[in-house]
Amino acid sequence: MNQPAAVCAEIDLGALASNVRLMQQIAGSDKQLIASIKANAYGHGVVPIAQALQDLKVDALATGSLKEAQLLRQHGIVLPILLFAFADSELTMRAVTEGFIPTLTHLQMAEAISGVVKNPTSVYLKIDAGLGRLGEPLDSARQWVEKIFQLPNLRIEGIYTHVPFADSKQRDWAAQRLQAFDQFVAELKNAGYQFSVTQAMASCCLLARLQDHCNAVCVGHALYGLSPFSSPGSVDVSQLRPVMKNLKSRIIHTSHHAEGSDIAVGGLYGLKRPRTIGVLPTGMAHGLCKPVEGKVMAVLIRGRKAKVLSVSLEHTTVDLDGMEGVSPGDPVTLLGYDGDEEITLSSIATAWGIQPLEALMRLSGRFPIRSMDATEESGRI
Ligand SMILES: *Cc1c(COP(=O)(O)O)cnc(C)c1O
Repeated sequence: MNQPAAVCAEIDLGALASNVRLMQQIAGSDKQLIASIKANAYGHGVVPIAQALQDLKVDALATGSLKEAQLLRQHGIVLPILLFAFADSELTMRAVTEGFIPTLTHLQMAEAISGVVKNPTSVYLKIDAGLGRLGEPLDSARQWVEKIFQLPNLRIEGIYTHVPFADSKQRDWAAQRLQAFDQFVAELKNAGYQFSVTQAMASCCLLARLQDHCNAVCVGHALYGLSPFSSPGSVDVSQLRPVMKNLKSRIIHTSHHAEGSDIAVGGLYGLKRPRTIGVLPTGMAHGLCKPVEGKVMAVLIRGRKAKVLSVSLEHTTVDLDGMEGVSPGDPVTLLGYDGDEEITLSSIATAWGIQPLEALMRLSGRFPIRSMDATEESGRI
C-alpha cells in the first residue's frame, strides 16, 4: 500500500522565473546564463528545476554530479550540461563519452581525454583566480592553456573561474580577481586563442553589482531565492523570491496529559497544568533537526504557531497548548504560510544554528517535491 509522504515540499516555479529574469537583467542581455543545479538544485529537486530552467531558456546547466546529469537526460533535458570539476580522469572520460562537457583542471586530465577520444570533444578549462581550490592558478595559466590547445581532439569551448565571497567586505577582493581574470582572457584572445564561453561571476558578484568582460555568468543561489551572503543586510537581496515555497506534514496523533503526568519526550515531568501535544510522522529521518540550545522552532497549525517540543528519528512533537480541536489528519506547515503566519527558511536555519542553504541540504532529497506554476499561485506574493 502506498503510504502518504511524511513530509512534502512545494516549489514555486513562478519565483524561479522571476529570479532568472532578475539575474538576466542584472547581468545584461549580452551575457549567457549558465544555471547551477548542483546538489539536487540546492535541495529543490533537480528534475523539476531543470525542466523549468529549460522552459525558461537558460543557456546551459552546470552540476558537479554525473548522476544528476544522467538523471536529467533521462527526463528529457537537452540543454548542454557542464560538469564542474567532479572526478579523476577516468570518471571524467565517462562523462565525455556520455556527451557531457567536462571541466579540465589539470594537464594529465586533458591529455587522457585527448588521447582517447576520436572526434573533437567539448571541454571547459578551469582557472584558479584566487579561490585556491580547483583549476590552474592564474600565474601559470598562460602556459597551461597553450599546452592544452596543442592537444588533438579537444574543442576548448569555455574558460572559467569562480570567485565567490560570503561577506561584502570581500567585494573589493572579488572585483580585483574578476579584473585579473578579464585581463588574462584578453591576453589569450590577443594571442589568437578563442573561447565561445568565458565566465567568472556567480550570484554574489551579480547581487553586489560587480562587472566583468566575460560573456557568461554561472548562477545558483540567487535562482532559488537564496542569499549567498552570510551576514544579512550587507547587499540588498530583497528582490529575490524563495523557490522553496512550503514544506508540509500532518498530525497523526494527539494526546492529553493531566496535571502531574509526564511528557518525557519533551523533557516535561510532573506537569504543573494539563497539556495537549500533537505528533507528526516526520523527524530526523526526513532531515529535521532539534533546535539548538536557547532557540525555539515552531510549526503552523490552523494558522497559528505551535512550538516544537521534540524531534526524534521519525517523529516530531508539538505543543498544542491553547489550540482547540486539532485532530489527526490536520495539515502542519513546517515552512511557508498558513493564513497570515509564516515560517521562513531563515527562521528554521536560525533554530538549527546553521545557514539556510545548510538547512536545505539536510532536507534535500528526503521527500517528494511538487511544482507550483506561476498561474497556480494562491497565497501570498
Ligand atoms: C556553485 C558554483 C557556481 C554558482 O555559485 P552561486 O554562488 O550558487 O551562484 C558558479 N561556479 C562554480 C564553479 C560553482 O561551483
